[in-house]
Amino acid sequence: MTKKECPSCAMEVDDRDHHCPICGYEFTDTHNSWLKWVALLLALLFLLYL
Ligand SMILES: [Zn+2]
Repeated sequence: MTKKECPSCAMEVDDRDHHCPICGYEFTDTHNSWLKWVALLLALLFLLYL
């Protein structure tokens, strides 16, 4: 079972949890995938300009 740290209360919670059981902070998966796409796009641009 993987754990992640809650950015709101800094407690370790289950990675599959969508809400922090301690403070109720909402983990947004969409934000993570958005970052992944930006990283991918930047990597592609970087390769094109080499
Ligand atoms: Zn929390």
